Amino acid sequence: MSPDNIAMDKLITNWQQVKEQVEQACQQSSRQADEVKLLAVSKTKASEMILALAKHGQRDFGENYLQEAIEKITELCKFPEAQNIVWHYIGSVQRNKTRDIAEHFDWVQTLERDIIAKRLHDQRPENMPPLNVLIQLNIDDEDSKSGCKPEQLPELIATIKSYERLQLRGLMIIPAKVDTDAFTRTQQLFDEVQQANPELTAWDTLSMGMSGDMTEAIANGSTMVRVGTAIFGARD
Ligand SMILES: *Cc1c(COP(=O)(O)O)cnc(C)c1O
Repeated sequence: MSPDNIAMDKLITNWQQVKEQVEQACQQSSRQADEVKLLAVSKTKASEMILALAKHGQRDFGENYLQEAIEKITELCKFPEAQNIVWHYIGSVQRNKTRDIAEHFDWVQTLERDIIAKRLHDQRPENMPPLNVLIQLNIDDEDSKSGCKPEQLPELIATIKSYERLQLRGLMIIPAKVDTDAFTRTQQLFDEVQQANPELTAWDTLSMGMSGDMTEAIANGSTMVRVGTAIFGARD
């Protein structure tokens, strides 16, 4: 797929606007602009778009579909401008896919079970740094949704702490709707975990907020917004 130039112009404009929106949201909540990282969610979008954003200085990219992601990662490693890309896996983690994830990604944001943590730890290659992980939290408490229940969080944290090939960085949520209450409760849990586990020195990431609710998420302590549509346009 070769994207046309107009789409590329639009892509860069969108990305700059999203960055401004993040900066404004930070200002409004008296936070420093560098406290919030922008993750560009590039699922279903062409490698050329990722490369164009990387050339403009976007570093973090999120992918959901493993096969598609590996193809893009492999293709892009040929380009010097893409060397510094930090790849985040944000799709659901199936047990038989952990090796591919451990071998290709820098972060996994959707860790929710100890069996998956063990496999990622065992399968993380020795020549790579520890895999950064976020625990996906089920904060809305809906049976249909994935994520670790808040009451199961301490046990999962204790397990992950024992795996030296995993670096526990924080929490992520995908609320069912724009839900300020979910943001507030997650921020509170995030702080409680840090207080209860002072030895978690890399506990620094609260991944919440997407195209439709990034401003609210930043007002409630998000340190990473995951933005797809507002940068890349609608997905098929
Ligand atoms: C697709 C996706 C996003 C981006 O959503 P947009 O509404 O397009 O910004 C963020 N987080 C996760 C986990 C996703 O799957």
